[in-house]
Amino acid sequence: MKYLLALFLLAGLLPAKPATAQFSQYFLDKTLRFDYYHCGDSRTEEYYFDELKSEPYWAGSKTTLVDDTGYGVQLFKIIDIASGKEIYSRSFNTLFNEWQMTEEAAHVRKAMPESVVFPFPKNPVRLEIYSRNKKGVFEKKFEQEIDPQSLFIRPFSPRYETFEVMYNGNAEQRVDVVLLPEGYAADEKETFVADCRKFVQEFFAFEPYKSLAPRFNVRAVWAPSENSGVTLPGEHVWRNTVAKAQFYTFGSERYQMVEDFQGLRDIAAHVPYEYIYVISNTQKYGGGGIYNFYGISAAHHPSATGKIYVHEFSHLLMGLADEYEGTTSYDDMYGGNAELWEENITTLKDLDKKDWKKMIQPGTPIPTPETEEYRNTVGAFEGGGYMSKGVYRPFQTCLMREFTTDRFCPVCTHAIQKYIDWLCR
Ligand SMILES: [Zn+2]
Repeated sequence: MKYLLALFLLAGLLPAKPATAQFSQYFLDKTLRFDYYHCGDSRTEEYYFDELKSEPYWAGSKTTLVDDTGYGVQLFKIIDIASGKEIYSRSFNTLFNEWQMTEEAAHVRKAMPESVVFPFPKNPVRLEIYSRNKKGVFEKKFEQEIDPQSLFIRPFSPRYETFEVMYNGNAEQRVDVVLLPEGYAADEKETFVADCRKFVQEFFAFEPYKSLAPRFNVRAVWAPSENSGVTLPGEHVWRNTVAKAQFYTFGSERYQMVEDFQGLRDIAAHVPYEYIYVISNTQKYGGGGIYNFYGISAAHHPSATGKIYVHEFSHLLMGLADEYEGTTSYDDMYGGNAELWEENITTLKDLDKKDWKKMIQPGTPIPTPETEEYRNTVGAFEGGGYMSKGVYRPFQTCLMREFTTDRFCPVCTHAIQKYIDWLCR
């Protein structure tokens, strides 16, 4: 809230200027993509430049250019070199951040291909990448100057067919989702097209996404795989697929993830997009979603396809946390003393700074007992973010906790609505 207030005050001092004029002052209406390798182990972290790419569309907001959400484990900023001004920024998480918390990262050094995208700058800029430290503060880890006139920016060359699944209007004021196929062979195009239509029906069956459907566009890229089906290393099943997703990521059977994020972007760039969601040609329960990175899950789960879609997408869209307890492959996901940045979990260290606090009725005990009396009450219930102790969730049930319910809790519902308002300004 402090940031918002500061922005309003600042806006009051500056001459009135439409925000889209800011966009056209600094940017062209297409995307510049910065590919790099995220490297290291549990203790160290490094970034190595790979390549710059030009992509044909800019689907993001032209007014919400600077990220003031306070979300994310990582943050990148684009600084206009001439003025020193931050002209674009976005927070995000990565699979590498999760891997760093695995036991493997204590004794293995690894590199993962990653990428950030921003509107194509007109003038030289500096990219800065930040990582959140244990105290919850972003520390600068990398910077590089970028000349948009460079001869070595690789142009985009399309290779796949695309189609619209749901179109509601101009990209800059919509949440633009691209659906990518994983494990659909060349003769399964009709299955993929039908699965994309089903995605829209099943995803927008759940509030608040149902009411927010007009704020979304959904497009798809038909990128066939050499083999049909999915890779299951734990069952000795390997298939040659376009997204190279694998179940058993970090040793967890249901965690189907993609390490080659640049490969996903290469496919996604065929359409205007902000959020990549991979639909996987399998019935197998699983998948995942990483904030401002990508989401993936099964297209043919027998009972919960739509619930899994909205759950994983909510991780992807705005980093909502899992509200369940239990084991993960991570040693210390929410350790340390800082308050958590996610809207729907807290350590109670600084709940006052979250909107959630305003939704708790006076007189509700904190922590809140998990009794019938508080079944439909916003409080702070112990257990969430994979931890049974020390992390609290806002409601007894929620789609971020379990699939026995059909609803997001009031705190998640509010957070999703607020985020989409911010994103689609
Ligand atoms: Zn929730």
